[in-house]
Amino acid sequence: MCLHHVQWVRTVPGGLHQCILCGEIVGWKDVYPKPEDLTEDFRARWKAHEATAPAAAANRGGVP
Ligand SMILES: [Zn+2]
Repeated sequence: MCLHHVQWVRTVPGGLHQCILCGEIVGWKDVYPKPEDLTEDFRARWKAHEATAPAAAANRGGVP
């Protein structure tokens, strides 16, 4: 079981984040400590990287 501590999380192409310890792609809700408990700066960087996701990935929700 992996905590996916934010210190182990790196950005990967496609607007995704990966835990380098276990190799899993992690989401906003998967990391430790909770993003709500982290700095505004961290949240801003996370969201900025998420925004780099290609249109194809962003469209997984069904929006053409
Ligand atoms: Zn992990």
